[in-house]
Amino acid sequence: MLDAAIARCLALSQAARTQQGAALAATLAELDAALAAVAEARAAELVRAGAAAAEQNIEQDGDAAAMLELDLAGYITAWNRGAERLFGYREQEALGQNILFLYTEDDDGALAELLYEQDGGTAEVRRRRKSGEVIWVQLALSLLQDELGEAQGMRVRMAHVSEPLSDFDKISLHARIIEDSEQGVLITDARERIVSINSAFTRITGYTPGESLGKTPDLLRSGVHDAEFRAKVRAAMAGNGPWRGEIVGRRKNGELFPQSVTISAVRDSSGKISHTFSLFSDISVHKDAEARMQRMANYDTLTGLPNQCLLTQLMTQALTEARRSNEHGALLVVEIGRLGAISDTLGHDVGNQLLGAIGKLFRAVLRDPDILARLDGNRFGVALLHIEKREHAAIVAQKLVAALAAPIQLGSHSLQVGASIGIAVYPEDGLETGALIRHADVATSKAAQAESAFLFYSEEMNQRAKEHLRIESELRQALLHDELQLYYQPKVSLRSGRIVGAEALLRWRHPLRGLVSPGVFIPVAEETGLIQEVGNWVLEEACRQVRAWKDANLIMPPIAVNLSARQFDRGLPARMADVLRRHQVHPEQIMLEITESLLVRGAENVVAIMNELVAMGLALALDDFGTGYSSLAYLKKFPISTLKIDRSFVVGLPYEENDCAIARAIVTMAQQLRQEIVAEGVETAEQMRFLRELGCDQLQGYLFSQPVPADDFERMLREGKRLAFGAR
Ligand code: C2E
Ligand code: MG
Ligand code: MG
Repeated sequence: MLDAAIARCLALSQAARTQQGAALAATLAELDAALAAVAEARAAELVRAGAAAAEQNIEQDGDAAAMLELDLAGYITAWNRGAERLFGYREQEALGQNILFLYTEDDDGALAELLYEQDGGTAEVRRRRKSGEVIWVQLALSLLQDELGEAQGMRVRMAHVSEPLSDFDKISLHARIIEDSEQGVLITDARERIVSINSAFTRITGYTPGESLGKTPDLLRSGVHDAEFRAKVRAAMAGNGPWRGEIVGRRKNGELFPQSVTISAVRDSSGKISHTFSLFSDISVHKDAEARMQRMANYDTLTGLPNQCLLTQLMTQALTEARRSNEHGALLVVEIGRLGAISDTLGHDVGNQLLGAIGKLFRAVLRDPDILARLDGNRFGVALLHIEKREHAAIVAQKLVAALAAPIQLGSHSLQVGASIGIAVYPEDGLETGALIRHADVATSKAAQAESAFLFYSEEMNQRAKEHLRIESELRQALLHDELQLYYQPKVSLRSGRIVGAEALLRWRHPLRGLVSPGVFIPVAEETGLIQEVGNWVLEEACRQVRAWKDANLIMPPIAVNLSARQFDRGLPARMADVLRRHQVHPEQIMLEITESLLVRGAENVVAIMNELVAMGLALALDDFGTGYSSLAYLKKFPISTLKIDRSFVVGLPYEENDCAIARAIVTMAQQLRQEIVAEGVETAEQMRFLRELGCDQLQGYLFSQPVPADDFERMLREGKRLAFGAR
């Protein structure tokens, strides 16, 4: 019977290969029925096999299958150990009882056993144990006949239906489960060839058995994973334990898809890996949903900007980092004014569009790492996590205000809005996002009341910001009103004691405050971008002065001019050439002092610009050496002819051991690189002597002269002022 059922299945599946549409559907339905028949026939065969075995063992040991015999009236005439185990009644209790005593109450009383009079009948029925528990029992019946062939009774073999499956059952069940699984299944042999797949594999990947069997799993390789990742997966396939994770695969149509995968190895009885199998499911749907949910949870739908939740997350991360590294930053809360009035008169749609437009304007004036978020209603938040100085937050606030200066055009409407900005800085105003937002909010309300564009939370910061703004606006005036002046500080040779150069240092003659040090206003000029103008003025003035000295027949050593990193751009060589040409100054007359921060910025074009300047005949000196990060290997890349040892290492000479060691190392290093060494800030004869012994070339410092006005420097040159080595 089983063979016949299997043959039918084969015939149907053969037929299905060439069919399509309705014919195919009909055949498949038939195939389903045929498969069910195979399963049924198999089950029957199993029971028969069990029964045959039981027959042999019936009177033997306790492992025997359950068996009883009935006479024609249904009374029990035999009861073995298996029956005792199955029902809980001992032989003495069961013999002579009618089979009905095993029936459950709701059974209709028919003698199931007797209905299957035919030899070989099977049935699955409910029976009651001695304990009262109702169980499902599979029955296999055979007639008991006397020598004449007359029916004497019935032998009933029984098996608990939920008893463990036979190996055969297990295999066919497992095969069925694998085939029907929603998960894709891929089995490879020890040579990594695909030997089996299921229909979900085909559904997910698009590859049929014909296209995948015999290939390696590289068939699905997406190319997005690196070698390290692939090595991990291969290790799992090589038997290093199951691996679970997400892999991006590629479908037959080229589409990439994320899959959740489990990979394990199967070993044979000798422990060798015979196969590996991967179970995978296509999680692209979940991923899409996840991404959508992520967006909904973290972004403001109106402006597309991060919302307060995401801002808080990012801020919190940055604050954790800041606690460790002592970094600082700021949080700005921007409240848009007049938005409510506009929405009320022109409608919420216009209000919403306006918010979107403001978001875009703000984004455009911020730098990439700055975070712009919409907090709620008319409030935006800006997190500045990478600012050099807290005061810079004021510059950003000004930019945001300036972005709203012009009316915003929306269709036929031209809308003017304003903003009040509150700024909280960390760590001073708090190291928690919540506290920073609250403090910035307080400052925002104060700013709105005071009708000032922005305010810091702390009074001290407001003072500093005010000072900053004051310097900025006064410096603009200074450029217009000729308040800037260059002083010159001589550099002297440690061999001859003669003046061999000078550094031009900027001074501001403030009409009210007197002489202002560059340490105060250069940083402000750098932050505001005014440094370009200031720097140009310095170059102009230095060249003009050199020309004037030349015209006065003075023999001039080179004059060094300080350059800020922000002046160092592609246009610098051209600007230099222009100013030198206009004043008819030879490039050898001018040296440019740059700082390490410029080198550390590491841009390729820095070296290119330097080479251009050097090719023009200008010399480059590295200022404040030792305070940055330059190393010997690093310096070799740059065409620098002079190193200036920073004053901070000179101060401790010759008593501070560390300073001595650093000074010695710098001098040795510079000598190897064939660079001239200038010691800055030399104030004492002891320092001078120590540096001289080390082999330092020049010194610059109060020991010889403070920075002085041009006339004074000219006088020193004329008089041939020299450094006295014996000086105390
Ligand atoms: P710097 O280029 O390192 O200049 C040396 C500074 O050390 C000068 O300060 C000088 O007056 C001071 N100095 C020299 N010898 C001694 C000494 O023996 N003892 C002490 N205590 N100080 C000494 P200054 O003129 O205040 O300039 C400060 C910084 O401002 C300069 O440092 C430079 O970085 C910047 N700077 C000055 N002028 C300009 C300029 O025209 N452009 C740019 N971009 N920066 C400038
Ligand atoms: Mg300098
Ligand atoms: Mg210096």
